[in-house]
Amino acid sequence: MDKEELWQAVLAQIQFGVSRANFATWFRNTKILSKKDGEIIVSVPNSFSKEWLSSKYHNTILKILRNLDNGIKIINYTVQLEKPSRTKSKSISKKREELEINQLSFNEFKIDQETNLNPIYRFDNFVIGSFNELAHAAAWAISDNPGLVYNPLFIYGGVGLGKTHLLEAIGNRIVENFPKKNVKYVPAERFTSEIVRAIREHEIENLKTKLREIDVLIMDDAQFLAGKEKTQEEFFHIFNTLREANKQIILSSDKPPKAIPALEERLRSRFEGGMIADISLPDFETRMAILKAKCEEKGIELHSDVLEYIVSNIQRNIRELEGALNRLLIFKKLNNKSPDIDVVKKLLSNLINFPARSTTYKKIVQAVAQFYDLKGGDLLALTRRKEIVRPRQIAMYLLRFELKESYPSIGRKFGGKDHTTAIYACEKISKELENNESLINEMGLIRQRIYSESL
Ligand code: ADP
Ligand code: MG
Repeated sequence: MDKEELWQAVLAQIQFGVSRANFATWFRNTKILSKKDGEIIVSVPNSFSKEWLSSKYHNTILKILRNLDNGIKIINYTVQLEKPSRTKSKSISKKREELEINQLSFNEFKIDQETNLNPIYRFDNFVIGSFNELAHAAAWAISDNPGLVYNPLFIYGGVGLGKTHLLEAIGNRIVENFPKKNVKYVPAERFTSEIVRAIREHEIENLKTKLREIDVLIMDDAQFLAGKEKTQEEFFHIFNTLREANKQIILSSDKPPKAIPALEERLRSRFEGGMIADISLPDFETRMAILKAKCEEKGIELHSDVLEYIVSNIQRNIRELEGALNRLLIFKKLNNKSPDIDVVKKLLSNLINFPARSTTYKKIVQAVAQFYDLKGGDLLALTRRKEIVRPRQIAMYLLRFELKESYPSIGRKFGGKDHTTAIYACEKISKELENNESLINEMGLIRQRIYSESL
């Protein structure tokens, strides 16, 4: 068996054991570079695939190879850029020049007029880990077969964790694979204002006709439909028309359909009628992988101390991870060298040095109220309204467990209630958190808000 055949055989076997999406991500553009004295050198297109193959797939690959050829003893992985001839003999200054040009052209990417998609969001620059694996796999499947697999696809997760990136990647890939399909990306807020404008200008029929011609409708941040009754009504009809014609609908939101307040029941049940996939929080390893991929993309090399410092301190938001890296890039541009750990600590001090996990009573109440689309005052008032009771119990629980407040003090804060009410609330929520997946999710999303900088 020559090395091409050998690798084809390996790939063919691996394909059975991994999802199509992961297969495409990790094994695209890999090959056996050489096979000599029991050593196989596998070439991979970037250091990120190298890390994944050598850490997660190494044993599988080795086993398959040994079954095919028992003389094989070790495998090494090496990064070969996709256009090796161009990068090999390049001088440093040339590289730097190119980096600057890349950055310029990066900013020059234009949003497509027809589809409203931004071409920078693609699958090949979307890093997969266990936190987003399901959402990614569903997204990938849909872009292979729009309208035919999961419809609608509803993706939810906290701020800055890749919802928009994934939605746009689906759109961009469908445009590439099916150039005739009419794809539209629209944030819910924009959709709402278009509906409102069309009604005002007596153009709603026109707009509806246009919307019915869409093959793939991508609506980002659907939580903003909350409370917009007229928009929800129009959207409901468009949704049904598209869905019945097997046109693909993709939605994102910062919370699951159940938790979107003031959403008509019939729309909620439509949102739940296809596939719901969440994006949770990336673990340390995945954050590291993402940061390394971004470093590579932006042409900066950072010491492992620095990588570790960033990844340990920025945990809840990939956009903040990118923000940190951008600061280091500017430093590099001005000083022609990568910053060392001491410099990095200074550069990122206002991103990172807010006391770890600090929060306040006010922040908690505000975050819970915002999440459930209530006013802070509603939570604190003396009322038994159903839509308030539960968020209030959640707020009490958080006060207890995030701030270690005493039960009597919690009771006093929430409308002068007895401490037994506070105990009851905390116990009820704790108990539910043992097995109620959707509550666990909601709690994670609320915590993310509590500890995010913007509140
Ligand atoms: P959201 O819409 O969930 O708030 P975005 O999709 O805007 O988040 O992501 C925030 C930033 O993080 C974007 O620049 C995006 O490209 C990047 N990002 C998010 N998830 C990933 C990922 N899995 N791999 C690479 N970059 C990511
Ligand atoms: Mg977004």
